[in-house]
Amino acid sequence: MTFSELNLIEPILKALQAEGYTQPTPIQERAIPHLLAGTDVLGCAQTGTGKTAAFAIPVLQMLHNQKNRAPRTIKTLILTPTRELAIQINESFAAYGKNTDVRHTVIFGGVSQHAQVQELKRGIDVLIATPGRLLDLIGQGFISLKHVEFFVLDEADRMLDMGFIHDIKRIIPMLPKQRQSLFFSATMPPVIQALADTILVNPVKVEV
Ligand code: AMP
Repeated sequence: MTFSELNLIEPILKALQAEGYTQPTPIQERAIPHLLAGTDVLGCAQTGTGKTAAFAIPVLQMLHNQKNRAPRTIKTLILTPTRELAIQINESFAAYGKNTDVRHTVIFGGVSQHAQVQELKRGIDVLIATPGRLLDLIGQGFISLKHVEFFVLDEADRMLDMGFIHDIKRIIPMLPKQRQSLFFSATMPPVIQALADTILVNPVKVEV
């Protein structure tokens, strides 16, 4: 299987080529068609499987193809447990999206919020966030989730281990009910499956 067989657009194919990727990984091959078709996905995959590209590529393609998309509103929210993962995901968006006009930024705690707020004020399409800083900036009125169309919860089991479940349960009701969601976890214990059930609608399960 090649990336062009996944019906990816030229700006993304070129960027993947520049990254030196010759073919999709199993999680990419299985998840990307469902995500491009608008289906919710429950993904069981560890870091290292290429799961970041599995959601970044369809998000970039869907936004790049939206011709009259609403300006300056957050249309994709990606929640991830740690600052390191957040930064990595943002770098992946920069790499895969370098030939698109999609604007993305990253917010996380433990640093001054000033630069992050300045970035948000420029107007962005994709926000990558850790839960605490997201709630903090929502509380201060710098972020609205009213226009989110695509939601990714990354590393759900680590979110639970790190004590973020309460934050996540506060964030979910702020998202529009009409949206597409993707839920990733390396393991699926009952408490994680129950959380997935509250977020996803008729999901396809993809395991690697
Ligand atoms: P992830 O599981 O998203 O953390 O990705 C793990 C590593 O695999 C990252 O360094 C990616 O740059 C790399 N990667 C992702 N997709 C591909 C691919 N299709 N071909 C080669 N490397 C890839």
